[in-house]
Amino acid sequence: MKQISKWMFLCIFALCGCVRQAQSNPVTSTIFAMDTTIDFTIYGTEKDLSAAESCLMELESKLSVTDTGSEIYAVNKNGTGMLSQQISALLEQALTLCQQTEGALDLSIYPVVRAWGFTTGQYAVPDTKTLAGLLSHVDYHQILFDRAAGRVTLAEGMQIDLGSVAKGYAGDQVVSLLRQNGVTSALLNLGGNVQALGSKPDGTAWRIAIQNPLGDGYLGAVEINNQAVITSGGYERFFEQNGQIYWHIINPTDGMPANNGLVSVTIIGDNGLRCDGLSTALFVMGLEKAIDFWQEYHDFEAVFVSMDGGTAITEGLEDRFTYLLENTDTNPVTVIRQHRK
Ligand code: ADP
Ligand code: MG
Repeated sequence: MKQISKWMFLCIFALCGCVRQAQSNPVTSTIFAMDTTIDFTIYGTEKDLSAAESCLMELESKLSVTDTGSEIYAVNKNGTGMLSQQISALLEQALTLCQQTEGALDLSIYPVVRAWGFTTGQYAVPDTKTLAGLLSHVDYHQILFDRAAGRVTLAEGMQIDLGSVAKGYAGDQVVSLLRQNGVTSALLNLGGNVQALGSKPDGTAWRIAIQNPLGDGYLGAVEINNQAVITSGGYERFFEQNGQIYWHIINPTDGMPANNGLVSVTIIGDNGLRCDGLSTALFVMGLEKAIDFWQEYHDFEAVFVSMDGGTAITEGLEDRFTYLLENTDTNPVTVIRQHRK
């Protein structure tokens, strides 16, 4: 009897091995959503893939600023509205980031972003008077959110957009759905926002390349398991007018493209929404304030590239970041260390 159960156990074990073997080829797809190209690489089934796609499309239909059927469209149109559980959770986390970054991230910057033409591609430099008028309605403190009731109410003249955190949140939601469905290995690329579930099927870390913001090729690569790697870069969306470059990350204090010395900020961490929001906010802050923020919270890692090409990484990346640009300097990357208390 003992022998039989041992034999059965071995059979089941071998069967599991076959299933794992079959999963060493991922199911993949590319879709266009959230204004960007999204790639899924899932070590699972076609069913897992279509569940991931539906999750993303459903989320987009709720938070789009342009889709007339979305929750956010209704809030912007009526000045108030009810939010589903999912969008409530998103808004709550996003507002926490607005507070923690002291408004470097501000969800109510949307009308200013629109005036610059970044939502439509019809770019224009707004005049000072227009900007001042729009900025008078920018203040995340005036987004009144009753979490228990799920109701959000905006101050007069205000409009919001969750675009700065939406892709990160979408990544979190898809990863959690896949995990619930038993998937242990997947990689999502949401327009340059990369989110990993687990490690590669062979157990090694995912290696994620970070774009060179000042030219062609890659700046470097970072190794991750179960984390997000999210970059905000001036090179992602911009236009040029009279020799001046204007990009889509706006400083809420003056309504101008953020110009505090950084050209790209990559955040690596466990929570996609937080990484997404922080990549935008720390870009706005500039290196010095961004480092202070990291010293205070220390729950993420970062790669900063300055306008002069200088690269700085936080100390947690020391063993998992590889610098890929050819450089004559012997040590082109500065490591930011935590102040020991
Ligand atoms: P992308 O969406 O291109 O990956 P980000 O995650 O950095 O880049 O988000 C930038 C988007 O967020 C802009 O396109 C704009 O809609 C919005 N945005 C720009 N500046 C801010 C800001 N200071 N706070 C909140 N949202 C912003
Ligand atoms: Mg962002």
